[in-house]
Amino acid sequence: MRFYRATSFLFPRNFHLRLFTLCFVAVHLPLIAFCGTEVALGRWDWRVFVPLLLATVVGSAAAIGSVWALLAPISRATAMLRALQKGERIATAPEGGADLIGDLLRGVSHAAAETTARIERLSDAAETDVLTGLRNRRGFLDAVAPLLQRERTSVMAMLDLDHFKTVNDRFGHDTGDRVLRAFAQRLEGGVRRSDLSARWGGEEFAVLLPDTALDEARDLIERIRAGLRINPLEAGPGFPVTFSCGLAVARDYGTLAQAMRRADEALYEAKRMGRDRTTA
Ligand code: GH3
Ligand code: MG
Ligand code: MG
Repeated sequence: MRFYRATSFLFPRNFHLRLFTLCFVAVHLPLIAFCGTEVALGRWDWRVFVPLLLATVVGSAAAIGSVWALLAPISRATAMLRALQKGERIATAPEGGADLIGDLLRGVSHAAAETTARIERLSDAAETDVLTGLRNRRGFLDAVAPLLQRERTSVMAMLDLDHFKTVNDRFGHDTGDRVLRAFAQRLEGGVRRSDLSARWGGEEFAVLLPDTALDEARDLIERIRAGLRINPLEAGPGFPVTFSCGLAVARDYGTLAQAMRRADEALYEAKRMGRDRTTA
């Protein structure tokens, strides 16, 4: 580091030019020594000077060219680190040999892979509901836009567990949590791969059914309900869990909030009509 700092007066902002200057001076030393000797001895031999000058010029060009080429991996690694700092995705670093440059490139590749994986883990965590493993509200809203950019209409479903406060009051909060997890599994098992489900909050779940007609959506939700009848999810003895559901047609991302509001109104209507049902 000492020599690096000591030479920093030469092009303090350009490492390449500093190296080139040092190469240039070093390659010219024999020529300078020759000229000095000739002058000191009071003679001048053009037959030696001309080939020496030509060799010096060719040598300088070769030295500067090869140093330039050898610096390429360092420039590349620096650019990758800069991109990483900005949070951009970077391609894998080129392979280096078993030397200092190889170590540097492997280090950059490793740091890039680690950083990318960590960012992905964090953003997954920020979009996942810890209790049920479903998407949370943010995860749902992030994933929903591309699903609504099609011609056909989609359906927005809002589901809410019935009398869930009673579950907590009678069987405890832990049982409530277990019921939420189990219900989330039933829901995930009941929707299609193309549907997007999320825990919207508390004991409320949202599902977007893309490219689906209202009747198809109703059938799908009722199949989940039938599953709960055949194989009940019991919060406690004689306390099977049921849910109410509101459906609304969603046309595009711009009117999604409106569709959700209508699905919520339908859900409220389902509750008002006695729960354990679906309304649209
Ligand atoms: P309704 O049939 O009208 O939907 O009645 P409800 O009791 O289900 O609805 P209400 O909104 O009165 O109560 C919801 C309860 O859900 C209250 C809240 O304590 C409980 N809850 C919300 N989040 C959680 C959770 O993460 N775990 C547990 N165990 N309970 C939760
Ligand atoms: Mg409820
Ligand atoms: Mg509720």
